[in-house]
Amino acid sequence: MSTSSIVTAQPNISHMLELPAQRGDSTVVVTVGVAADRFSGADRVVQIELPAAVPVEAVAGFAAEQVAAEPGDVVLAGTSSADRVLAAAVAVQLDAPTYRGLQELEAGKATVLQLGGVLEQTLSLSMPIVFVCEPGGPSEGPCPELTQVSATVDGATVVSSDKAGSQATNLAAAKRIVACGRGFREEADLHIAHDLAAQLGAELACSRPLAEGVSWFEKKLYVGISVAQVPPKLYIAVGISGQLQHVVGMNKSQTVVAINSDSDAPIFEQADYGIVGDLYAVLPELTKALAR
Ligand SMILES: Cc1cc2nc3c(=O)[nH]c(=O)nc-3n(C[C@H](O)[C@H](O)[C@H](O)COP(=O)(O)OP(=O)(O)OC[C@H]3O[C@@H](n4cnc5c(N)ncnc54)[C@H](O)[C@@H]3O)c2cc1C
Repeated sequence: MSTSSIVTAQPNISHMLELPAQRGDSTVVVTVGVAADRFSGADRVVQIELPAAVPVEAVAGFAAEQVAAEPGDVVLAGTSSADRVLAAAVAVQLDAPTYRGLQELEAGKATVLQLGGVLEQTLSLSMPIVFVCEPGGPSEGPCPELTQVSATVDGATVVSSDKAGSQATNLAAAKRIVACGRGFREEADLHIAHDLAAQLGAELACSRPLAEGVSWFEKKLYVGISVAQVPPKLYIAVGISGQLQHVVGMNKSQTVVAINSDSDAPIFEQADYGIVGDLYAVLPELTKALAR
C-alpha cells in the first residue's frame, strides 16, 4: 500500500481525503493548527501547534519538513491562500512539480483540469508531486492516530489585525451582483456600474481581465472558475462576453440579466433577460428607471 500526504490548515477536507482513498493509499494529514478530529478517514494526523499570533505561512517551511519526513510522494493541499503557501513550501522541499485541479488519483496516474476547467488532462505520475485541489466539506467518524509537534517559526508574527474596508465585500453571500467586463473602456467609466449597484443594493464584481489585466478591481472580486463562484438571486453581467471560465462562476445565479452590444455574445445563452445595447446608454437609463 502506498501513502499520500495532505498538508493543510483547512478543517473541512472530505474531498482531499477521498482522493488518496481512490487508489487505496493510506493517508497522513500534516495540519497546521486544526484539531485532529476533523480528519476522520485519515490514518494518521501530524498536528503542528500554531503559537498565538503566528500566521500559518510562518510555519510553512516547518510543515514542509514534516511532510518530507513521511513516506510517499503524492502530496495534496487545499485551495485557500494559506494552503497554497504550504503547497509551495512542500514543492520546494521535495523539488516537486505542482498541479492544480486534481480530479482523480489512480495507481501511477492522475486526472487534472487545465485551462480553467476546459481541458481534462491525464498525467503519468513521476514522483514526488504536489496537487492543489478542492478541499471538500466536513468528514465524520473516529479520530485518527495523532502526533503533536511544536512549530519552528520563520520570521513573522501578527501584531495587529484590523478589518480592511474592502473586506466588507463578500461575493459568496451577496444577493445581488453587478459584474463588469471588458465592455468598459476606462476605469473612470465604472461609476455608472457603481450607481446601478447602489440603486439595487448590489455588490460590484468583474470578469478576470478587469482584475488581472488592468487591476481596476481587487483579484478576489472576479467571478469565474479561478476565484469566486457565486449563487446570487440576481446577477447582472455588463459588457461580459460569457466565456466558459466566467460562466462557471455565475451559472448558479437565480436570475441572470446580460447587457451586451453584441447580440451573438455567448452570455445571452446564460441569461434569463438580455438587453442588446451599449452599456454606456443602458446603465444610466436602468438606474434612472429603478429609482422611479
Ligand atoms: C486558465 C484560465 C482561467 C480563467 N479564469 C477566469 C475566471 O475565473 N473568470 C473570468 O471572468 N475569466 C477567466 N478567464 C478569462 C476568460 O477566458 C475570458 O477571457 C474573460 O472572462 C473575458 O472577460 P470579458 O467577458 O470581460 O471580456 P471580453 O471577452 O473581451 O468581452 C467583452 C464583452 O463586452 C462587450 N462590449 C464591448 N463594448 C460594449 C459596450 N459599449 N456595451 C455593451 N457591451 C460591450 C463585447 O461585445 C464583449 O462581449 C480565464 C482564462 C483562462 C485561460
